[in-house]
Amino acid sequence: MIKLPEEFINRMKEELPGDYEAFLNSYEQSSYHALRVNTLKCDTDFFLSFFGRKEDKAARSQENAHFSLETVTWEEGGFYYAESDEPGRLPYHDAGLYYIQEPSAMLPVGLLAVDDSGQSVLDLCAAPGGKSFQIAARMKGKGILISNEIHPGRAAVLSENMERMGVRNACVCQEKPDRLAERFPCSFDRILVDAPCSGEGMFRKNPEAVTQWSTENVSFCAARQKELLNRADQMLKPGGILVYSTCTFSRQENEEVVAYFLQTHPDYLLTKEQRLYPHQIRGEGHFAACFEKRKAGVSVLEKPGFPGKRSVSLRLSDCDDLMRFQEETLSPSADLFLTEDSLNGRMLIRFGDALYLAPKDTPALNGLRVLRPGLMLGKSLKNRFEPAHALALSLRPDDVKRHMTLSLKKAYDYRKGLTFPCEGENGWTLITVDGFSLGFGKSVQGMMKNHYPKGLRK
Ligand code: SAM
Repeated sequence: MIKLPEEFINRMKEELPGDYEAFLNSYEQSSYHALRVNTLKCDTDFFLSFFGRKEDKAARSQENAHFSLETVTWEEGGFYYAESDEPGRLPYHDAGLYYIQEPSAMLPVGLLAVDDSGQSVLDLCAAPGGKSFQIAARMKGKGILISNEIHPGRAAVLSENMERMGVRNACVCQEKPDRLAERFPCSFDRILVDAPCSGEGMFRKNPEAVTQWSTENVSFCAARQKELLNRADQMLKPGGILVYSTCTFSRQENEEVVAYFLQTHPDYLLTKEQRLYPHQIRGEGHFAACFEKRKAGVSVLEKPGFPGKRSVSLRLSDCDDLMRFQEETLSPSADLFLTEDSLNGRMLIRFGDALYLAPKDTPALNGLRVLRPGLMLGKSLKNRFEPAHALALSLRPDDVKRHMTLSLKKAYDYRKGLTFPCEGENGWTLITVDGFSLGFGKSVQGMMKNHYPKGLRK
């Protein structure tokens, strides 16, 4: 049993007089494991038929890819799995077919009312990226998502996760919220503030959080949360929706922060507030509140859309090597086969030698720390184009002229960086595991050179 801080126990006793015993008993049970299907890559019915086969565990082969799936009731595409399923070890995980996420953490995005109508969405505290990915799945490649994370190491993980999930319309930044607020006043239709908190709701899953807990830290977190909401307010358009969430039970960080925000921002309505307790649901502790910013009193300055300049887009004719690559590699019917027409407002941006395809209406990003201004297409290197891993992960076999489908067993070899014999024409080839892209290979005279990124090999 985890040793819980005494002040925490006393406070919970007061807050949950009726079911304190049940709450305390939940610490003796193990935590739940869940994943969310990546509907950008496969639909949920397919996922269930592919991974959800019910059979006697003992009869499963050593390399099975079948999970004991049960629905997470508050998130479509969310499923519990058994710890022994270990979905994180499989190449399907590297192919971004699913994202492993604590089940209660799936709650807040459901309140954000994100859709595929072309919204501008900000995820202010986004790493490692579970909620950004849920948002991106709902946006279906439309609109623009800015996923921000203040800490450099965590921002890099966020960027890698967005790449793995095949998200095309996200820009990943590593900025202080006040810098974003200066640049993007009244700019977003939706903002998620999944705030750093004292983490009381995670004590069972992550007992280390207990050692970092103190009443001082709860107060420190509450002050920072108020500051984050003030910044979010500056960036939300009138009529927009703001969701605030934490993984703590502390009223000081939850209801009291909400009350402070409503008091200091009378133009907001609280539309929903929800708590998840581990003794009531199959998941850890979480809190979420949803606010709507009223439309009344919109000033001329508060016009919708990103104010100021747009990023500067290259012309396709400036990117000969990319054009050659796509002629040789992509099917003309692929929506990443770029022509002046098919760009349809999306923008080609060069950062150093890297070329990115940025979402329509991407604002000017100069001066901001940006890890990824959209989908990385590849690098222009001395008159040749080297496609990016991110590009592979956002393509399907139908999108390319050459693909090679590996069995699960062979996919492990590819992930290790091995080369293997192949047939057919020379050139860039999309490597898939059972039809889901894993990366690129380059076929050269009967051998498939492995282009799986060295840093990801295992
Ligand atoms: N939304 C994430 C997800 O679903 O994967 C989890 C976010 S976590 C609860 C909070 C994040 O806020 C952490 O990654 C932390 O580094 C970041 N953070 C810490 N201080 C911050 C600050 N002052 N401004 C913005 N983000 C901050």
